[in-house]
Amino acid sequence: MEIEVLRLGHRLPRDERISTHVALVARAFGARSITYSGQHDSSLETSVARICDAWGGSASGAPFTIAYEKAFGQFIKRKKRDGFAILHLTMYGLPLPQVLPEAKKAQKLLIIVGAEQVPREVYELADFNVSVTGQPHSEVAALAITLDRLMDGKELLATGPGAPDFRGKLRIEPSAKGKKVARIQSI
Ligand code: SAM
Repeated sequence: MEIEVLRLGHRLPRDERISTHVALVARAFGARSITYSGQHDSSLETSVARICDAWGGSASGAPFTIAYEKAFGQFIKRKKRDGFAILHLTMYGLPLPQVLPEAKKAQKLLIIVGAEQVPREVYELADFNVSVTGQPHSEVAALAITLDRLMDGKELLATGPGAPDFRGKLRIEPSAKGKKVARIQSI
């Protein structure tokens, strides 16, 4: 399954950190790209590029990309035309466990998280409006849980079948007590 993430309504300076965390979670938990709308933020893009430079691309080894998209409605419609199923994370949606079997059938999935109030149009365009609990919390947590369920937890593996391969210059050597980082290439 090819997964992309769309972060709606990025606001400066309010969302600087949380949009960065949305991007880092998208990458670490199995998505291959993040697109964001709202205010353009080159420092957000630089932060993500810097992480990718050291730690690699997406979990499949392909590059992880970040892009800005002003017209999110047209972007979503374009993705639908390109065969993506649209999964919008909202506390008002159907519970994730109930939607998951159907969502897993998608070959390509665009996961949408909001920031400010999400326009009605997004709820209408979504194939799935999905809640991660019926409580207000964080787009970062909602995205992480959803990706983890979609990936069947394989993104958490360090080695073995299905484990991610980011092909970065740096790689963690899991340690019970220490902090071991292997330098795979000179950086
Ligand atoms: N009105 C708030 C604001 O102005 O900041 C919205 C913030 S809410 C934390 C931002 C996003 O987090 C929502 O658009 C949704 O994508 C996600 N989110 C929060 N709670 C969620 C839940 N229980 N289930 C799914 N997604 C959730």
